[in-house]
Amino acid sequence: MAAAGATFLGTSHRQAPVRDLVGRIRSGLSELFALPEGYEIILGDGGASAFWDAASFGLIDKRAQAVRFGEFSSKFASSASAPWLEAPDVRSAAVGTLGFAEATAGVDVYAWPHNETSTGVSSAVVRVAGADPDALVMVDGTSAAGGIAFDSSQADVYYFSPQKNFASEGGLWLASVSPAAIERIERIAGTNRYIPAFLSLKSALSNSRLNQTLNTPSLTTLILLNSQIEWILSNGGLAWADARTRESSALLYDWAESDPRTTPFVADPTHRSPVVVTIDFDDSIDALSLAAILRANGIVDVEPYRKLGRNQLRVGTFVSVEPEDVRQLIASIRWVLDNALAASHA
Ligand SMILES: *Cc1c(COP(=O)(O)O)cnc(C)c1O
Repeated sequence: MAAAGATFLGTSHRQAPVRDLVGRIRSGLSELFALPEGYEIILGDGGASAFWDAASFGLIDKRAQAVRFGEFSSKFASSASAPWLEAPDVRSAAVGTLGFAEATAGVDVYAWPHNETSTGVSSAVVRVAGADPDALVMVDGTSAAGGIAFDSSQADVYYFSPQKNFASEGGLWLASVSPAAIERIERIAGTNRYIPAFLSLKSALSNSRLNQTLNTPSLTTLILLNSQIEWILSNGGLAWADARTRESSALLYDWAESDPRTTPFVADPTHRSPVVVTIDFDDSIDALSLAAILRANGIVDVEPYRKLGRNQLRVGTFVSVEPEDVRQLIASIRWVLDNALAASHA
């Protein structure tokens, strides 16, 4: 990594070392996702949140259907409520459950997250049966990408920020785009709709083809992302990553089902996320006190999603997490439950 720093940091993103790096990221992701002919990887600054706004300017023609089952999918639903579009068709499902897209006349973009990071519910990446033939499927892969296998031909746009499974930093978005999505981007860019330069997908498309971004990206984000892509590919690619996150998450779900004090928050086992595990605790246990004891002992970031307000822990089982570390985490939680917390409830 220090060598990478010496090669890249301080270099203009228009110069060969950085453009080569962006090129490696684009081809590495194409290989990792087994992109069909004609699909491309595009990227730009600003992260998934910026992509939501870019999509409302440059991908949604008239109306999106936004499937909402947690915090991140709710945020997209707000971005899709732009004044130049028709009000989105918002399909809401209760937190902890999975919502589904439903073919609806006049909807030209169907959007949902592959993994709702706030609740630990994961969805399937599949086309919407009965949808208008030119409607696009747009999936937020931010916490799933690189950790959950999927069929990339089933989405027209699969976008993500790289700070979760890709173990990088924030500030960047990447997306695989289908020929139909590229056509949509070009068509909308050719209308008289106002599109801010920073959020222009047409400009992201032309810059990405030159292995560039519109404006200066964080080079550390690119370096870390590329090394994670290479690491996953060298271990066997997405199938390997998927098996590893399933192994790690199953350790937690199996324990939570067998321990009388805990229950997986997501009731339907087929909707439980392999990368973000949420576990409810019974009322006799204060999960926040448990998290505080763990934190004081160097085991951090298992607190629940702040806005969910549940008596639970949320554990990231991203691909870079060693399954053995998850075993140690479970042993640590059980020790605290049996000793430190048991005393206060005796
Ligand atoms: C983290 C996250 C986001 C937000 O990513 P930013 O890079 O902060 O914009 C969006 N969607 C999902 C599913 C996420 O997990």
